[in-house]
Amino acid sequence: MPAVASTAAVTPAITSRLPNVGTTIFTVMSALAQETGAVNLGQGFPDFDCDPALLDHVADAMREGHNQYPPMPGVPLLRERVADKIATLYGRRYDPAGEVTITAGATQAILTAVLCCVHPGDEVIVLEPCYDSYGPGIELAGGRVVRVPLLPGSLRPDFDRIAAALTARTRLVIINSPHNPSATVWTRAEMQRLAELLAPTSALLLSDEVYEHMVFDGQPHVSASALPGLAARAFVVSSFGKTYSVTGWKVGTVAAPAPLTAEFRKVHQFNVFTVNTPMQHGLARYMADPGPYLELAAFYQRKRDLFRDGLAHTRLRALPSQGSFFQLVDYSAVSALPEAEFCLWLTREVGVAAIPLSAFYEGGFEQGLARLCFAKRDETLLTALQRLQGL
Ligand code: PMP
Ligand code: GLN
Repeated sequence: MPAVASTAAVTPAITSRLPNVGTTIFTVMSALAQETGAVNLGQGFPDFDCDPALLDHVADAMREGHNQYPPMPGVPLLRERVADKIATLYGRRYDPAGEVTITAGATQAILTAVLCCVHPGDEVIVLEPCYDSYGPGIELAGGRVVRVPLLPGSLRPDFDRIAAALTARTRLVIINSPHNPSATVWTRAEMQRLAELLAPTSALLLSDEVYEHMVFDGQPHVSASALPGLAARAFVVSSFGKTYSVTGWKVGTVAAPAPLTAEFRKVHQFNVFTVNTPMQHGLARYMADPGPYLELAAFYQRKRDLFRDGLAHTRLRALPSQGSFFQLVDYSAVSALPEAEFCLWLTREVGVAAIPLSAFYEGGFEQGLARLCFAKRDETLLTALQRLQGL
């Protein structure tokens, strides 16, 4: 009999590039909230719609025929508006042609920035707890994640430990202010301290500033772009999803000095090439009025205060929330469960979904803290508070 080659349908096994990664906690908790009918204060997104004027601008752009590929780095008018905003608010003028790029959300901006500069074996410092996309991005680039904990209790940067972690192999340091999940905001003195630590090194900086317009109590947002020593080595990332309450649009920005932007765009043009055109035109037109982003801090501060006033009548202890749309709560007076189990219990039995702080640490770390999101309609917050008051 002649040998017949087998055509069996076998899917070859692959060796995972990210063996330790599963479905993100945000997706898991949102699915559980939906399944159980819990109020979803877990995943960070608004449950209210954006300004209808923004929708009109996008619809106009579509009807005007802005539906084909835009220029690779982004629609020129949008890049100009972003450069103007940064110059006005933070005092550094980026060249829209060669220093500002429009991305598919901050997530793609962060991954692209990491991929363009981190080589196998390079070290990247992240401050734990941190946003969940940083670690996998660094691993995909072949870099080594160096985790420096924030100070226990205050969750502020620990500069002694950052200094100790900086080595000749440090290629990049990632910071995030206002901070997800701790809701802390870096002061000018802290940014200055970081600038001093990085000055003698050749480390780059990735400054994740997606919550830049949500800083409360009259405090400023101190952007890395405002400190020349940091700006010269920084990718400064933001997200229209947060600023304009359109997280599903996935449009973000990166501002970086020309040599960094040139390398960024080499990767960008092959991992996304361009970002959807009508959204960019709509955002550019909407940005002509600075009102919406300038008023955002007051809008969220009112929600924060409403939420914290309600929490004061529960057995949850609210930690400070200086910025972002998050609120950490210490639940030790209510339960001794580990954080993930507590959040599952809270969702199923109390009807309020939350995110365990341990999800923002490699290998977990138990502090009896959960993260709640107050980017919600007042009715949603009041319903959640009523349930939490029964704890
Ligand atoms: N960084 C931080 C700190 C975030 O909280 C988020 C929100 N998911 C992102 C980045 C990603 O933003 P985007 O939705 O624009 O990708
Ligand atoms: N940034 C949001 C959060 O921290 C959403 C993240 C996500 O779903 N990937 O909850």
